Amino acid sequence: MSATRSTRGPPQPADPAPERQSVDPLDGVDVPAAVLCARCGLSECGGSCLDPRASGVFARVAWEHAEWPWHRRLFATARASTLDCEVLFASLPDGPVGPALTFALTAELFAALGLLGVLGVPLCALFPDVARACLFDPALRGPVLRALAVGVPGLAVLLSLAHVLHGLSIDLGGRRDTALDPASRPSRTLALRFGLYAAGWDLMIGPVGAVLLALTVGPRAMIRGLATVSGLPTRATLAFLKGAYHLEGEPARRALLVSYWGAGIATVLAAAAVVGAVVAALTV
Ligand SMILES: [Zn+2]
Repeated sequence: MSATRSTRGPPQPADPAPERQSVDPLDGVDVPAAVLCARCGLSECGGSCLDPRASGVFARVAWEHAEWPWHRRLFATARASTLDCEVLFASLPDGPVGPALTFALTAELFAALGLLGVLGVPLCALFPDVARACLFDPALRGPVLRALAVGVPGLAVLLSLAHVLHGLSIDLGGRRDTALDPASRPSRTLALRFGLYAAGWDLMIGPVGAVLLALTVGPRAMIRGLATVSGLPTRATLAFLKGAYHLEGEPARRALLVSYWGAGIATVLAAAAVVGAVVAALTV
């Protein structure tokens, strides 16, 4: 039980949680706090994401700063989960799953809308007659709008569920190998929060994230930033396993392998659900 987790639920006895502080990933990272908080990604943070009762302990993800507009919190969290993944996930604070689930659904909804734009615009340009019929033919417009109204949020829910499975598989692997005694092991909600906040990857690496990044930091910085995302799930998972389960080296690799299986099964289930939905839509 760390001090970060004691911010929720019933009052806990004093617990300095030195292990959490000892793996602070910001040690040695030179990030001007006034410009951008590398922990939560908010430029206005000013250290408010830290636990006031425990020095250097990350306590609030940007999405959970209710005082800031939702779109800034969404972008800051998605950005931190992708471009500062090791910093965010090594010290991810535990807490309620609800906000993380809302974040994942919102991020995936915008990611799905971005995908729709990237696929839809070229298709409309290639098949203008079909596009015109879908927009102006009453017999086609209704079914197309219904398919979009179900398909886009449906894809967001499906991708969020895949992230839940990924988070649970990391907990399965981490719990099996960790040397932490049972009382010190992180609660399963922390792994769920990891999986759900990792949904920020789908937003940032998609068209919406690329455009937002280009608008906020410029096209060159956007290309530089997105060029560093190779191996993102592996780096983020290893950082999380180190911070939450104190796993490094071979035990971390074994837990990572379990998470790969979880991600693989989640991908197959999500693909099967998409195929099933398409077949059902075509046969109804
Ligand atoms: Zn912050």
